[in-house]
Amino acid sequence: MSKQNLSNYIKFLNHITDLEQKGLISSKQKHLLKMNLKTKEQLLEKLICSFEDEHNNQNAIFSYLNVIEPKTRARCHSSQENEAPLMFRNNHNTHSQVTSFNESRLIAHLDDLNDELMNIWQSESQLLFNQEINEKLKKVGELIAKTATSTPCGSQKQVINAIETLSIIDGLKQLYKDLKQHFNDYLRCHILLMDNQFTTQNLYKMLRAFMKNLVDADEVTFIINNELYTSTTEQFQDIQITEKQQYEIDLIQDGKVIDLTEFYPELGALFQTNQYKSNYVLRIQNSQCIFCFHLKGERKTIIRSFLSLCNEYQFFDEVNQLGFLLLESLKQARVQCFNPLQLSHMIQDIGIAFIRCSKYVFIQKVIEMLQERYLVYKENTSFSSDYPYVEFDFRDSLNLSIYICMDLNKKDEMNVYKQLNLSYNKYLKFIKQCYDRTTFYKFFVKSQDSLIFEFDKQGQITFVSQPITKKLADDFGINFNSQKLNSSYKSIFRNQDLLQHIENQLQEQNQWILKDSNAPYEIFMKMEEKYFKGFFVIFQQGWFRYDHQKELDASQWNKLRKTIMESETKLYLDKLEQKHPQLKNSVIQMFKPKSIQKQSLFKNFSPSFSPNHLDQRNSLQESENVRRIPKTKGVNHFYSDMLIDTCIENINNQNFNILPYSNDWLEKQKVVFQILKNNNFIQEYKINETSLCNFLCALEYKYNKRGNQFHNYDHGVTVMQCTHAICLEMMNTKHGQLLTQFIKFALILASLCHDVSHTGRTNIFEINSLSNLAIRYHDKSVLEQHHAATSIKLLCSPSTNIIPNFNSEEFREFRKLFIANILFTDITEHYNLMKSFEARTCEINFGTKEDVRLITGMIIHTSDFAGGAKPFPISKEWSVRVNKEFQEQYTLEGKFGYPQLPYMKDLDQLPIMAKSEIGFFTFIVRPLWTVMSKFLEDRLKDNIDNLDNTIIEWQKLMIK
Ligand SMILES: [Zn+2]
Repeated sequence: MSKQNLSNYIKFLNHITDLEQKGLISSKQKHLLKMNLKTKEQLLEKLICSFEDEHNNQNAIFSYLNVIEPKTRARCHSSQENEAPLMFRNNHNTHSQVTSFNESRLIAHLDDLNDELMNIWQSESQLLFNQEINEKLKKVGELIAKTATSTPCGSQKQVINAIETLSIIDGLKQLYKDLKQHFNDYLRCHILLMDNQFTTQNLYKMLRAFMKNLVDADEVTFIINNELYTSTTEQFQDIQITEKQQYEIDLIQDGKVIDLTEFYPELGALFQTNQYKSNYVLRIQNSQCIFCFHLKGERKTIIRSFLSLCNEYQFFDEVNQLGFLLLESLKQARVQCFNPLQLSHMIQDIGIAFIRCSKYVFIQKVIEMLQERYLVYKENTSFSSDYPYVEFDFRDSLNLSIYICMDLNKKDEMNVYKQLNLSYNKYLKFIKQCYDRTTFYKFFVKSQDSLIFEFDKQGQITFVSQPITKKLADDFGINFNSQKLNSSYKSIFRNQDLLQHIENQLQEQNQWILKDSNAPYEIFMKMEEKYFKGFFVIFQQGWFRYDHQKELDASQWNKLRKTIMESETKLYLDKLEQKHPQLKNSVIQMFKPKSIQKQSLFKNFSPSFSPNHLDQRNSLQESENVRRIPKTKGVNHFYSDMLIDTCIENINNQNFNILPYSNDWLEKQKVVFQILKNNNFIQEYKINETSLCNFLCALEYKYNKRGNQFHNYDHGVTVMQCTHAICLEMMNTKHGQLLTQFIKFALILASLCHDVSHTGRTNIFEINSLSNLAIRYHDKSVLEQHHAATSIKLLCSPSTNIIPNFNSEEFREFRKLFIANILFTDITEHYNLMKSFEARTCEINFGTKEDVRLITGMIIHTSDFAGGAKPFPISKEWSVRVNKEFQEQYTLEGKFGYPQLPYMKDLDQLPIMAKSEIGFFTFIVRPLWTVMSKFLEDRLKDNIDNLDNTIIEWQKLMIK
């Protein structure tokens, strides 16, 4: 083969890949072209030899396809496997067969056709199906026309079913596309902020675009401190609230979004709701503001009903945040005091939160769509049906699932079900991508020394991280207008060198490239990548300097109390680290409040982090899957009579030790059972013993399924036992009466469940790996929220519900306490909790409901380190276990290029582990137990003695 030919072959292969991606040829056609290339088909050989320029080549390929295609259809088909009887397949191409009517043959044909349609529709090459599908649909239509009049009802029904199936499947696909399109567009509205002369008018425009995109609202009105603001006039005006208006205002429940149109005549008149199609009102939390969104509803948008779903799907917090942002921004606009970068952060946080919630729009629309054809029941209705049904679990933290009466043995119903799965998964993936992008964006918004432009695959601008300084604009001939949302890079960059550089890079069309690193700018690109098809231009320090520092100080957005507490904690930690320099790289870092941690974390993230990172996540998931082989040795079923008549040593005091039973699942369950019994919970709350056995079984399984070294059922039971023992001590103190039976139950059960389904990694790892959990819980107490949700799910499921006798109010209260307790086990709450608790115990009015929350939080948090507070040999075993888990994580982080935490390094070497443990016990565990013990009138002295001894023993091991 000559060199010329070789390059033509490569060109040809690139071409057809390109054509397929653009949807100009089908994957089948591409396959065919490749086959013919392999078999050296003569015409094709000629064509390739005569390749000239791109345009002509393309046309040559098209006409080649036209010439050869009829042959291929037949060939492809006969080689394809399908379920239709063989005789029909052989006859498939003779159209006349269809008209000579035969019912079973017709059905077979329809089936055949249907299969083909499904294959194409559900294939990944999305771009091509519109064209192709239409063609196929036409054929189905023809078939119907030919047969329907003479067909008995049986097959006519078949035809109608097939069409209905197609329309539902089409609807599901369209839903995915529409929602995705909508939120992709939203991501652009950030550009509006990036004006060097950011004016009030820009702000208004930006806020309008923002709320229109997120909740389809056109105008807002709100009342705050006897002033009424309406966005139509952009004015505040003084008002006197009448008694009747006040009455209606008082009716607005906290935490709910209310459709104002119906029952609020006075407020309706005040807010002029009759000018709009829908009006939603809410009380902004922690402020006196009554806030109203107005929707004109001229144009039907996909997120039309978003706000009306808020109460059912529990995303009040997000709506509240949006309202708060609008309220604060509009208030600030009055005094001309706002900061685009700060706004940028807030709109990204809120934006991504709404994108996450947009899946409820998806879910709601799916339900509506399916209801047109199937019976669909939402969870919570006691469901049973004679007709076959499937449960579709939306895998959401709300535990949403629906029951659809469909028979998966029927091919068309199976296809609908498959499509539902496919579309939903794709949408979740899209949400994840948005999350990735936001993380990436935020990095650059924060950056002091770089500025990034992002362009989509058409070369249109999608993101700018900061306002363009004049110097940068002058140096590179940048002509950027923040108000033009669809500018192309050609109109933005005027500098010929830069443009040429971009063009060159674009032509290479391959991996992320960082070339010409001596140039004052860098261009990253990724053209063929699944996640991102555009490119970035990054300007690095030296050329770019942000000169708006002054405005940063003017911000008054953070809540004062939190800021003070954080800065106090930071001060304390700084001092501590000054005194003990070894702590800087120690496990103590994990206990810092997240806001302090984050700054140091971000230092480890380099811009090149993101692209590589996205690729690596897939391989991470693979390796995680391997690890997730269930490792529980637990027995699936046991009965309550196996649990009675036991006498467990030290079950009611701090000398209890679970390690001897580590391999005895039954003994552990006996411990749990005995503790519940000793507290009289089983009797008092009429806990059904079968449900209890089921619950404990499920719990043990979920704790142990990953085979974690430390965060397993042994740890859960130990923490529960310790909590139980501390409660017994507390009952004998002057504060004993604060622990009611109900509060104790929520506390002790929470301590048993507090680490269920633990991944064996820290929150930081979950966040850095952008794991599903991190995304689900917005990086906030990721694992803790997961433990709580998992437990609550068990408590809601009929077979494992041990508290079915609670009425709904009791359950709500129980759930609240239970979750709050688990959230206190997030170690980044450590300093805040200690500080608040110490401060409160000194107050005269100590004993409020909030104080009891702090007490139970302290008890569970202290108990979380129960293993460590045992005599040294036992304590050491727990330390070894947890350090093994850290070590494993450190290795994985290295493998996937996530920031590695230095204090997790080399923990398998005893002196290094000893050093780490000394810091941990001296500065975290011992102070914690000391505060707890003091509160319990010195009843935990023995544990503190143990801790002192443990520190001494570790010191010996460090020196060795
Ligand atoms: Zn724990």
